[in-house]
Amino acid sequence: MGLEEKLPDGILLASIETLVNWTRKSSLWPVTFGLACCAIEMMTFGAPRFDSARFGMEVFRPSPRQSDLMIVAGRVSQKMAPVVRQIYDQMAEPRWVIAMGVCASSGGMFNNYAIVQGVDHIVPVDMYLPGCPPRPEMLIDAILKLHHKIMNEPLGPKRAEKKAGQKVELVPS
Ligand code: SF4
Repeated sequence: MGLEEKLPDGILLASIETLVNWTRKSSLWPVTFGLACCAIEMMTFGAPRFDSARFGMEVFRPSPRQSDLMIVAGRVSQKMAPVVRQIYDQMAEPRWVIAMGVCASSGGMFNNYAIVQGVDHIVPVDMYLPGCPPRPEMLIDAILKLHHKIMNEPLGPKRAEKKAGQKVELVPS
């Protein structure tokens, strides 16, 4: 007879992994910064109409040290790339990244020397969000999908995986 069958009704069992992942996904705190027009839609997501507080993420933190989610909202210029990487490095582990919009995901229509052709050249991306710009509803959808991803993550190996193979590809100034 399993442990669940021995316990009286009303007692719930969960693994530590599930519990930890549940607390993590229920209190994602995004770091405050926006790079371009997509940031307007990200700000709208934090306003009352879309109400990011429903997802435990009402506090966009002004310090990367207090944040575990980076929403890259807008195109990333070559000059901004080292700054984005530095902010990412200063964020608390474990941390996640959403590339919001076609520019952050792939450079979009800015196929030129000045723009990084996808923020995944600089930081590891967990979720790519298409659109120009994506609506706040689409950002919510990406965050809910990220919640699902977090709930299914092992506690240990992902951190090692995210540290490995990070490249900063920048045009020398
Ligand atoms: Fe601006 Fe569109 Fe690029 Fe977003 S995807 S930064 S809205 S041009």
